[in-house]
Amino acid sequence: MVLQDLGRRLNSALQSVSASSTIDEQALDAVLKTVCSALLESDVNVLLVKRTRERVKRQVLPQLEEIQHKQGTDHDAMAGNKAKQLIHKAIFDELVALVDPGDDAPPAFNPVKGKTQVIMMVGLQGAGKTTTCTKLATHYQRRGLKVALVCADTFRAGAFDQLKQNATRAKVPFFGSYTETDPVSISLQGVNKFRAERFDVIIVDTSGRHRQESELFDEMCQIQDAVEPDMTVLVLDGAIGQAAEAQSEAFKEASNFGAIIVTKLDGHAKGGGAISAVAATHTPIIFIGTGEHLHDLEKFAPRPFISKMLGMGDMQGLVERAQEMAMANPERQENMMKKLEKGEFTVRDLKEQMQTIMNMGPLSNLTSMIPGMSGLMGGDTEAEASKRMKRIAFIFDSMTTAELDSDGSVFRDPPKAPKADKGKGKGKPNARVLRVARGSGTSVEEVEQLLAQHQMFSKMAKRMGGKNGMCLAQRGAG
Ligand code: GDP
Repeated sequence: MVLQDLGRRLNSALQSVSASSTIDEQALDAVLKTVCSALLESDVNVLLVKRTRERVKRQVLPQLEEIQHKQGTDHDAMAGNKAKQLIHKAIFDELVALVDPGDDAPPAFNPVKGKTQVIMMVGLQGAGKTTTCTKLATHYQRRGLKVALVCADTFRAGAFDQLKQNATRAKVPFFGSYTETDPVSISLQGVNKFRAERFDVIIVDTSGRHRQESELFDEMCQIQDAVEPDMTVLVLDGAIGQAAEAQSEAFKEASNFGAIIVTKLDGHAKGGGAISAVAATHTPIIFIGTGEHLHDLEKFAPRPFISKMLGMGDMQGLVERAQEMAMANPERQENMMKKLEKGEFTVRDLKEQMQTIMNMGPLSNLTSMIPGMSGLMGGDTEAEASKRMKRIAFIFDSMTTAELDSDGSVFRDPPKAPKADKGKGKGKPNARVLRVARGSGTSVEEVEQLLAQHQMFSKMAKRMGGKNGMCLAQRGAG
């Protein structure tokens, strides 16, 4: 996705700090220059970029001076590391602030089973409303909710057919009409029907127009009055960049929506601009659209979003995905939770997670959630990522049952060297690693990378163990 380019640029700016030998105001200015030009190229408003730059400097400079005083002592290296961490943290926090709508934003919407919630989708024509309706329906359906779609778009010819096609593909019940021309009447009929059938979530797709017109806003308000939605969601095309601010303000004046979904963040360099512009209006972005397929919808939260964009993973997102998988297989969930409680994570667990990931839709979305995984996968296209995933599957297939059920340490035992070679075995790959690489037709590096990945997960599992792990997983639901 295009945001990855922004992420890569920001990340390389941060890495240049790590590589630099002296950390002073000049070094800080250099990194901020790269960060700011990357943000500006992503169409982030120039004032927001300026604010970000000033805030980082204000936070870092006084502490940097303090650290510099200490330099020249025995603690030189330590002071340097501290300064680097300081810069990393300040930039990370300010990037989060840039996409954060703030505390005064209304609480996020969280439909639950057994209570009908109506969501009304509004936005300009072409923003991605109809596509997003089905994506959202699939999202809630995967969480075990009973979801239905209503097509109230009588303005665009073919809108009902499009929704019908999408809904059928996603196996979501739908309601619409080829003959009824009054959108208020259709939406009311649809919502009443699905309410009576006790659906948990009813999503109403409304008409759009090419421009913000009074007719569109009148129609929106009439539907809103008729169906009384629990949540109105504005769908915004991410390609409009910082113009998103004016568009969301105009819609806000007409209908008081509670949340925003920004679409097409896979295909446009202006995505960063759209997200920061929306955040500036203090309205929560609940999801982002990252492609044309059903699964290309990602939950949005400022911190995980930035973390993921910088290739640092999104553990919360991953836990949520794990929850979805768990709902499809409660028994496996139970076993996994028990293991996590004990802080266990075998090589087989990683194999199973990866297999499930392969069945869960676009790999590029998921791999970026795993810390370090986007590095493992490189900046791969979907096809490249799935090729790599297949090689990983070959690696697992070449392992023995005992190796799979191990904690991975068997692969780290030093290779047995003949007595005469004593000391020469150092640096040689472990014999098992060598065997697995040969058997799977992959390289020793690939096997070692995968095992390093497992080790990282295993450490995380240990940290998540016990009560914390359970809480984290439960928080992920919704
Ligand atoms: P509507 O007029 O607002 O209902 O818009 P549609 O749902 O018909 O979407 C317009 C176009 O945008 C279609 O070609 C969709 O496939 C495409 N689209 C929607 N969301 C996304 C997205 O997140 N990424 C990409 N690349 N295309 C999208």
